[in-house]
Amino acid sequence: MNMIKPQPGILKIDPYKGGASAVDGITDVVKLSSNENPFGPGDAAIAAYKRAGHALHRYPSTDHMALRQAIGTAHDLDPARIICGAGSDEIISYLCQAYAGRGSDVIYTEHGFAMYKICAQAAGARPVCVPERKRVVDVDEILKAANNKTKLVFIANPANPTGTMVSDRELARLAANLPEHVLLVLDGAYAEYVEGFDGSAKLVARRNNVVMTRTFSKLYGLGGLRVGWGFGSEHVIDVLNRVRAPFNLSHPQLATAEAAASDHAHVKKCQSENLRMRTWLTKALRDLGLGVDDSDANFVLARFASPQQADDANAHLQSEGLIVRNVANYGLAECLRITVGDEPSCRRVAHALGKFLEAGG
Ligand SMILES: *Cc1c(COP(=O)(O)O)cnc(C)c1O
Repeated sequence: MNMIKPQPGILKIDPYKGGASAVDGITDVVKLSSNENPFGPGDAAIAAYKRAGHALHRYPSTDHMALRQAIGTAHDLDPARIICGAGSDEIISYLCQAYAGRGSDVIYTEHGFAMYKICAQAAGARPVCVPERKRVVDVDEILKAANNKTKLVFIANPANPTGTMVSDRELARLAANLPEHVLLVLDGAYAEYVEGFDGSAKLVARRNNVVMTRTFSKLYGLGGLRVGWGFGSEHVIDVLNRVRAPFNLSHPQLATAEAAASDHAHVKKCQSENLRMRTWLTKALRDLGLGVDDSDANFVLARFASPQQADDANAHLQSEGLIVRNVANYGLAECLRITVGDEPSCRRVAHALGKFLEAGG
């Protein structure tokens, strides 16, 4: 008998599943399952990555100063209050490791991002799921669930996989009314897709119980690089830096993200193309009779008549080489999440779904 056991909770973790990237027998696939940027990284980021190869014999920076300064400049934030990690997933993991643990609760919402639950369980904490209202985070439900065991509350804004948002005002109300020992985490993985939205950075700047996470994986087209960051009060950043490994980011990661942070032309192009094609795709799907909430991110959530119809539509899309995301594990079995691709990809998706529905799918 195996007497070697992990910490309680570890074997309860349902491992994260990434979006599929292949369909058997089809070579020309379009991957719209992981909210990746269809334009990829900008030229400045690619050039920086290549240059970084020459310095691979050197250990990387441990304090990430240059990258934190580039982020601070791009977002008008104090670099001293920024921490960088291997994707924002690593920041989420540090938060759970540092603040949650055995005997504590971590709140996330009904259709909330899978990593919140996984990281809470990995830290030995109890993940607590609270209801949303029609696929929108409900601040009052969170306030109802928060108690003396609650350590962290996770909200993605815009949310994944719903694409919906809660207002800054509602978040300010939540931050002001949570028990004083609770840290509110605002995951801004898609914040850059919302025109004029700072990911609630100003709320974070003026309160000591709110922290924001951000990423280079989506708008910046660097999902494969693994760089994200957090912005919070000095006391939170200090705690997270204590659990962070000194060399958690390699020199190529740091140099590439630094170049990407300052490439405003690429950022602008990706933002405007996403807005244009998201608007187009939303209307095209609604015209087909599908339910689609207004999305503020780089994907849309299409609602079908039933889980069966969503599965059939998914199979049909796959047969056409179009890979989208089944979100049954997010309590949305009647939906498919479709990343906003480039124009040809969006047109192919709308066309394929049109054919599927026309055939009585
Ligand atoms: C994609 C995504 C992230 C980003 O994860 P990285 O580790 O930075 O690649 C974080 N939160 C949400 C809600 C996401 O959808």
